[in-house]
Amino acid sequence: MPDVFNWQLGRAMGYRFPAAYPKRQFAFVFNINRCLACQTCTMACKSTWTFSEGQEYMWWNNVETKPYGGYPQGWDVKTLALLEQANPGGQVWDARPAGRPGSIYGVFKGQTIFEAAQAKGGQEQALGYLPTDEEYRSPNIYEDTARGRRGEPGVYGMGTSLPEHTTWFFYLQRLCNHCSYPACLAACPRNAIYKRPEDGIVLIDQARCRGYRKCVEQCPYKKPMYRATTRVSEKCIGCYPRVEGTDPLTEGIPMETRCMAVCPGKIRMQGLVEIDPRTGDWKPDPENPLYYLVKESKVALPLYPQFGTQPNGYYIPPRWVPREYLEQMFGPGVEHAIEQYLAPPRELLAVLQLFRATQRIIFKFEIRKGPKVRDVVIGGRKWSMYNDTVIGYDSAGNEVANLSVVEPMYVRPRKYLNSI
Ligand code: SF4
Ligand code: SF4
Ligand code: SF4
Repeated sequence: MPDVFNWQLGRAMGYRFPAAYPKRQFAFVFNINRCLACQTCTMACKSTWTFSEGQEYMWWNNVETKPYGGYPQGWDVKTLALLEQANPGGQVWDARPAGRPGSIYGVFKGQTIFEAAQAKGGQEQALGYLPTDEEYRSPNIYEDTARGRRGEPGVYGMGTSLPEHTTWFFYLQRLCNHCSYPACLAACPRNAIYKRPEDGIVLIDQARCRGYRKCVEQCPYKKPMYRATTRVSEKCIGCYPRVEGTDPLTEGIPMETRCMAVCPGKIRMQGLVEIDPRTGDWKPDPENPLYYLVKESKVALPLYPQFGTQPNGYYIPPRWVPREYLEQMFGPGVEHAIEQYLAPPRELLAVLQLFRATQRIIFKFEIRKGPKVRDVVIGGRKWSMYNDTVIGYDSAGNEVANLSVVEPMYVRPRKYLNSI
């Protein structure tokens, strides 16, 4: 297996193909703290792409309730168990700052799904399993089921005390991560899966696919899905006509995908980041909101980075959930990310206003400083809030968002009371 550099793991790792990087990469940040589980995102994708015969069970976007829920059921627990079986007790991080530039979470000492498969021997490119039909039965089983006291699942009603509840659950929003080292692509014996050089979107060539379901088996996120009516596999296409700006609605300017654009909870931001052709890492671009959130403030973290696919979906972790659980899911950056979110630095607070401010992809932001509005104490430390204004620009440099931190209040004139 050739060696490729995985910046999320802080080290090189084995992968089926030598490194080849796109010019720009499709990426997104989800703020778990704000999700309503309204499933508007899920239905926007369904009604656009998967409403036909044979696609009934396909939810390219889904929102599942953790810790018990998952679609297909148990997808993450099963893959974690396979990794543990392959390398007992070895799935650990050395969270000290790593030597190599770009390694912001430390170094992962365990085996990725690619390395575990290699160590096992045989033909498979990545460790995986094929879910049963039953595991696809319920897209959100255990919805809103809380976890009880530690070691006593199912004990409820203990009350809450922020920042951590003793009973807890949260919503996890999921779609294909358009990974930098896709396991689906490595797994395919027909070479039917490819990563687009212009935006890193991962697609299945429907004409080449023969429905062997190796992608379904080896994607650790279980996002490719088999269609029995056509006997080929399908997956999220990153709404590429919108991202390209070729959908008539976009008027030629890159626009966010369907599932991103509809989100009423304003938890989603999607964009494109520039990739360094030598390392595959993100080129420094601190004015790009995604770059800022992931690389500068480090408030958003990758989902199960230890799998090794270098996923391009990032999450602001939920602040009320036990840290061990979150660290297993998002790696060693959890404590820092939650600290950032609980008492955001001035710039971060401004950037957080940009979520769902526009359907156009924001390529650049600018902050105009405003007055201090409040001093408070958070977690024993003084925190000041400023009414800054954040401005977002699209790919053509047009201003597409302009928001202040303090939302302006308009008082409705008395003469309009009780009227519309
Ligand atoms: S639309 Fe937004 S708020 Fe609603 S479930 Fe999806 S991610 Fe959560
Ligand atoms: S999430 Fe799965 S389907 Fe999507 S690119 Fe990564 S490995 Fe492939
Ligand atoms: S990006 Fe498009 S295709 Fe992919 S899950 Fe979202 S709406 Fe569906």
